Amino acid sequence: NAKDQGVEIRRYVPAMQMKAKERLKLENDMRRALERNEFYLVYQPQVHLDTEEIVGMEALLRWDHPKRGLISPSEFIPIAEESGLIVSIGEWVLKTACLQNKMWQNAGYQPICVSINLSMRQFLQPNLAGKIGAILSDIGLEACYVDLEITESMTLDKETTFDQLKRLKELGVFISIDDFGTGYSSLHYLKNMPIDRLKIDRSFVQEVMEDSNDAAIVSTITSMAHHLKLKVTAEGVENKDQLQFLRQQRCHDAQGFLFSKPIRALEFEKSFLKMLRV
Ligand code: C2E
Ligand code: CA
Ligand code: CA
Ligand code: CA
Repeated sequence: NAKDQGVEIRRYVPAMQMKAKERLKLENDMRRALERNEFYLVYQPQVHLDTEEIVGMEALLRWDHPKRGLISPSEFIPIAEESGLIVSIGEWVLKTACLQNKMWQNAGYQPICVSINLSMRQFLQPNLAGKIGAILSDIGLEACYVDLEITESMTLDKETTFDQLKRLKELGVFISIDDFGTGYSSLHYLKNMPIDRLKIDRSFVQEVMEDSNDAAIVSTITSMAHHLKLKVTAEGVENKDQLQFLRQQRCHDAQGFLFSKPIRALEFEKSFLKMLRV
């Protein structure tokens, strides 16, 4: 079933190229999508390269539109972001992913960390740490099982970013920089911000075997992460050669189609979760 693959997305239309009318329609549909249960999450495993164990999973949002079918997040997230709807959708993602993780722990599976993508608007909310703290205590999930992914582009205003990250770190969650290398002011951030991990953007990983510049970039990011005592995860790993290269570079973890596409919770549970030994 293509839908259950989670990534078999019908078509990709960059939000910028979409006609205004179509955009507006999609925005209106999105307003009702939450209450109509049209959203769901898929999960992609994060694999520790030394042990090959699953150490985490990234939660990725899917929208099953009643007429249009599955719509890619790259298509609807920018619209959600501009309209402000991302705040309530993002809160649903946080709650759903944390609840799922807690339910798996309750069922006796070995605890792993869930990575959740934050959008710019969400990140700029002054009470974000309070909201996340309330979600965690409602659900009873320990903060150390949550990792928040932000991008470099969200870190424009130094003061705000630092304060926000500090509050989030005080909760005890992990912070990752997503799509690392595609934004700017990265070195400054690495030096000053309380972050835990870099996720190397998949555009560098994709041609790491063919393009020596990409290889140099991946190798540099990885070694820099080691020096700064940050964890480093490679995104978009699709084949064994890439994996081998990343191992040589001492990259910590990897994520990508080589291990699995993002899949539904039940399938993730069956394929990747391990029972705790008692
Ligand atoms: P991202 O956070 O960089 O997520 C990784 C994307 O790469 C996912 O696309 C995933 O399916 C895809 N991917 C993973 N492994 C591979 C691989 O080996 N090869 C290739 N070609 N692709 C791979 P997806 O699920 O379509 O998500 C696209 C973007 O939408 C995400 O990029 C993220 O920026 C955004 N997004 C998804 N879910 C959420 C969410 O809950 N909240 C927010 N704010 N943004 C989200
Ligand atoms: Ca991400
Ligand atoms: Ca990414
Ligand atoms: Ca991305």
